[in-house]
Amino acid sequence: MKLHEYQSKQIFAKYGIPIPKGRVAATATEARQIAEELGGRVVVKSQVLVGGRGKAGGIRLARSAKEAEEVATQILSMEIKGLPVRKVLVDSAANIEQEIYLGITNDRAARRPVFMASAAGGVEIEEVARTNPEKIIKVHIDPLLGLRDYQARDIAIGIDLPKEYWKQFGDICRGLWRAYMECDATLAEINPLVILKEKSLMALDGKMLVDDNALFRHPDLAEMRDVDEEDVAETEARKYGLSFIKLDGNIGCMVNGAGLAMTTMDIVKLFGGEPANFLDIGGGAGADKVAAAMRIILSDKNVKAILFNVFGGITRCDEVAKGILVALKEVKPTIPMVVRLVGTNAEEGRKLLADAHMITAETLADAAKKSVAAAKA
Ligand code: GDP
Ligand code: MN
Repeated sequence: MKLHEYQSKQIFAKYGIPIPKGRVAATATEARQIAEELGGRVVVKSQVLVGGRGKAGGIRLARSAKEAEEVATQILSMEIKGLPVRKVLVDSAANIEQEIYLGITNDRAARRPVFMASAAGGVEIEEVARTNPEKIIKVHIDPLLGLRDYQARDIAIGIDLPKEYWKQFGDICRGLWRAYMECDATLAEINPLVILKEKSLMALDGKMLVDDNALFRHPDLAEMRDVDEEDVAETEARKYGLSFIKLDGNIGCMVNGAGLAMTTMDIVKLFGGEPANFLDIGGGAGADKVAAAMRIILSDKNVKAILFNVFGGITRCDEVAKGILVALKEVKPTIPMVVRLVGTNAEEGRKLLADAHMITAETLADAAKKSVAAAKA
């Protein structure tokens, strides 16, 4: 789950990281009131769950409350990368001397979290990684030992941070580390962390990703979910307990089990196709779940064929077949569908689908080939 900048910064503040004074507003009038309360110059920042808001014109400086209202009006009528702006954060403006990047993420290959820092902050870190990879320093953290003081110093030295900021920088690193661990985050990022003209550090931007699988133990974080900002299909999938991730291809895949779903995607690719999604309907999925999965797949206009790959174990193939029939009646798809059923009650399942005008396949390779051909046709 992605958190908004204002949410991430509120969490950072709880862990002692300095952030600007400010509040979030849903209307331009509110934005003006906040700017009046804050006094002086403010920044008005679109709250959308995509990066590069600055470049897109979604971050504007305002010298007065009146100007804050004007820019808020403009920003609130914008779309950034296809997402309408529904909220703005109004923060006291900062006097920036230098912008630093500081973030923590999981390094799966190293099997531990990694701190990343760069003196070239403010711009997207992916950009720095591409153009000046030597400007990013990385320090891996033993999750059992946590961040050690010498490691925070190593990071400070690595980005040539003047010594007068080391103590405060250490506190910020420790705060960010605790926020990352205690929230079960997969990313905690401050970009930019700035050196102010007033000679102290402050987090001007914040981004956090929280592991969806850990949300059950963070009801306070789960409440922060902004459904308006999420892909409709993914929200719908969550409602039915389906694991769904949209991809760019044109073959919709409906599979039971995550491992089988990944295998299915691999084999589709092997035969020259591109999967439109990852979708695991889970074990023991009934007709309603299958119907929901089918609606979700078909809501993607890129989908030119659907591949059902069901391995009946706990899931019974006849149940899945019933689900397909229910869904067919409801959504009346016009695209070709390839189905492969094996395992528990496969025979019953196939009988149920005999009149459903589906392309049947015996093996997964056969099913993948047929769906690739069907999507091309
Ligand atoms: P992003 O583009 O979505 O990453 O948004 P950021 O919050 O990182 O803002 C982008 C840039 O706007 C920053 O790197 C700063 O250069 C600038 N910026 C943000 N807040 C302030 C501020 O308070 N004062 C000044 N002068 N610039 C700011
Ligand atoms: Mn940023």
